[in-house]
Amino acid sequence: MNNKGLIKADWSVPANIGAVVATNQRAANELLQQKNVQWVQQVHGKNVYKLDSVVENLKPKADAIYTQVPNMVCGIHTADCLPVFFSDQKGCEIAVAHAGWRGLAAGVLENTLECFKAQGDQITVWFGPAIGPCHFEVGEEVRDLYLQQASSSTKASTASAFIPGIKSGKWMADLYKLAQIRLNHAGVFNISSSGLCTYCDSQNFYSYRRDKETGRLSSLIWLN
Ligand SMILES: [Zn+2]
Repeated sequence: MNNKGLIKADWSVPANIGAVVATNQRAANELLQQKNVQWVQQVHGKNVYKLDSVVENLKPKADAIYTQVPNMVCGIHTADCLPVFFSDQKGCEIAVAHAGWRGLAAGVLENTLECFKAQGDQITVWFGPAIGPCHFEVGEEVRDLYLQQASSSTKASTASAFIPGIKSGKWMADLYKLAQIRLNHAGVFNISSSGLCTYCDSQNFYSYRRDKETGRLSSLIWLN
């Protein structure tokens, strides 16, 4: 992380792709002065907005944005949920998704992949900062939902993404791992991760679970 409040997405993508997580609004504003940013109205769902041109004041209901158009910035906000960056290996298609446990279970990552012309083995993914398994406590119903959805080949790995919590009926969930399992199942294996925990690092990150009323991280990706 640099002192301007920007984390560069640390993955191997073509040089024409810009991708950062801005940890404060000032850093985001400075970075984006000359660029068109498309935000979405995030609803913890699975809809993907396909961006052709930024329309002022239009905030479609979606939890991911995909584009092939240069100089259009796709932006999502998070404060514990997982920001997932996508690119094809040629640098022609990009996307970013907001994946909390609800959106992930709804299929937001699979829906984002469906927008791509590139096949799974030509797509690379980076996970930005999210709440880690050290702090992401969920109820039994969340674990049950994921286990119900898992296929025979992903059942064991899905179960291993939940560790019994201290309180009875609670589980510590690994959102990074759950996202990886689903992407692998969809044919994407070229995945790297920030591995950070927004809750642990109060110096650098907002965390909804820690602070309740809080700011948001901005995850931004664009083609130059
Ligand atoms: Zn933590």
